[in-house]
Amino acid sequence: MEDKPYYCPNCRSNRVKFSLISRTSQSFDKDAVTGSILETDEPVAMQAAEPDIECRVCGFVGNEQRFVRQAEREPRTPTL
Ligand SMILES: [Zn+2]
Repeated sequence: MEDKPYYCPNCRSNRVKFSLISRTSQSFDKDAVTGSILETDEPVAMQAAEPDIECRVCGFVGNEQRFVRQAEREPRTPTL
């Protein structure tokens, strides 16, 4: 994740509350006849170069760069 301001491009009201959407990979073996799961491995986090971010106000999910670019287009002016 980049240490830059985010701004939700969807609701345009949130610069603060976000979630990181991460993917995991988990190996498992199936029984070929019954379809039941026989064996599972520990989930492994998959590293994404550009992670997806969820806006916790409106639920919009998008690439991190969309949030960064929206913040660059409409920067927050510091309040005195
Ligand atoms: Zn939003």
